[in-house]
Amino acid sequence: MQHSSLAVYSYPDQQAGQAKSVNDFIFNADNLMDYEVGALQSLTMVHKAMRKATRPFSGISPQALARQVNQIDLAQPAGNLEAALAEVESVYLNNAVYFHHPGYVAHLNCPVAYPAVLAEQILSGINTSVDTWDQSGGATLIEQKLIDWTSQQIGFDDNADGIFTSGGTQSNLMGMLVAREQAVAKHAPEHDVRYQGLPAVARRFRIFTSAMSHFSIQKAASLLGLGFDAVVPVPVDEQFKMDVHALARALTEASEQGLIPICINVTAGTTDYGSIDDITGAHQLAQQFGCWLHVDAAYGGGLLLSDQHRHKLTGIASADSVTLDYHKSLMQPVSSSGFMLKDRTFFKHITLHSDYLNPLAEKGQGYPNLVDKSLQTTRRFDALKLWMTLRTMGAASLGQGMDKIIALARQCYLVLKTSEVFEVVNEPELSAIVFRFAPAGIDDATLNTVNQAIRQHFLTTGEAMIARTTLRGNHYLKFTLLNPATRIDTLQHILSRIIELGDANLASQAEEKQ
Ligand SMILES: *Cc1c(COP(=O)(O)O)cnc(C)c1O
Repeated sequence: MQHSSLAVYSYPDQQAGQAKSVNDFIFNADNLMDYEVGALQSLTMVHKAMRKATRPFSGISPQALARQVNQIDLAQPAGNLEAALAEVESVYLNNAVYFHHPGYVAHLNCPVAYPAVLAEQILSGINTSVDTWDQSGGATLIEQKLIDWTSQQIGFDDNADGIFTSGGTQSNLMGMLVAREQAVAKHAPEHDVRYQGLPAVARRFRIFTSAMSHFSIQKAASLLGLGFDAVVPVPVDEQFKMDVHALARALTEASEQGLIPICINVTAGTTDYGSIDDITGAHQLAQQFGCWLHVDAAYGGGLLLSDQHRHKLTGIASADSVTLDYHKSLMQPVSSSGFMLKDRTFFKHITLHSDYLNPLAEKGQGYPNLVDKSLQTTRRFDALKLWMTLRTMGAASLGQGMDKIIALARQCYLVLKTSEVFEVVNEPELSAIVFRFAPAGIDDATLNTVNQAIRQHFLTTGEAMIARTTLRGNHYLKFTLLNPATRIDTLQHILSRIIELGDANLASQAEEKQ
């Protein structure tokens, strides 16, 4: 029998002396030497940048930096890797915000573990996508093992499951989505939202969350067609935790008005204060009102690994779903977050089958397709970063990192508390402290001006990076401590600078008034 044969054409390779072609830049076995040289060059540049970063930020204004960025003509390539790197150094590295710097105490950004950075290089080069088995192979199993590990840390049993996501915002969206679908199943059982959109009864759905919870809960409500108004803000107590009595009242009132509580969102580590809501109290109410219990532990999730502080998450295993950001408190590079479900069957609300990816007909053939549990299709293999971290450092050292930052926050709190010029508003349970420069006898309006000016000074000099927030209409400053290597002396130094700047500003305000 005659087999038809296909003609093979060969093209001459690039001529000597010619400019490099696309093939010369492919990350493949032919170009690994160039990659290696480039990797060393970029590493040297990062090394230099980090040594040079004597402050966490250059303080450059967005206008000044925009002029530099705008000068670059994307139609004219820099020509080679060295030139491209030099450009990156000037527009990016020289003006980046450095989270590893001990003077970076602003937002929920952590310094990263270097084994995770190495993992990032590996996973980007291989460019795995953890959607289907045939795009990931072993990566799917590694991610699944970390998800199972996370379940165990939470205290969930074998029925649990989860998925890596891009961040707490996406994880919270998934939690609210499943809560909404469960409510539809209960109150409009014949209805399929996927085909028909929301049923009429959804207008009465309400989500209960503390007034201090993260904005992503509102965002989720709006994306899910429930609207911001479906989110009922519950007042907090003096330590910024959701007031369980107020929650009970709000749930009762809503029910009496014919509204339907579909979810209680508990924040385990509020973004501003690090306060942890009473999970057990919320669980009892969720049982009583028959609604979903979601725990947003985006920030506080790292406590699971701390022997000293794990108890602060007591009750977390009673949650129906949990958000936790490995990129907040577990030293992971952005992005790395988890969404966990106590009962894996609820992932059915997320699964959609497509003929080319994960056909229903193949289900049960033993090919694990993580896309079945994800909102994303193509998805980064972020799990490798946590894997390398755990395999190199171990979970216990991450837990010690949590212990250190909590101890540091406590020390800082005591410094602030015993000072006469500071007003400190929360006793940190995690590692966020809100305070303001407030010498006695000065009115709020003046203090607001001073504290804004202090924050502005730091932003425009970059000598330290601190955050701000408002409380009862007044301006406050905030430290978020996530760096286990930061020492109290550094914080004391920033605080003395705040006093100097504050005094100077008060003096100039007094002068202006005369
Ligand atoms: C940061 C944060 C989020 C959002 O997480 P991203 O990873 O930034 O999307 C949600 N909830 C809380 C409590 C957070 O602190």
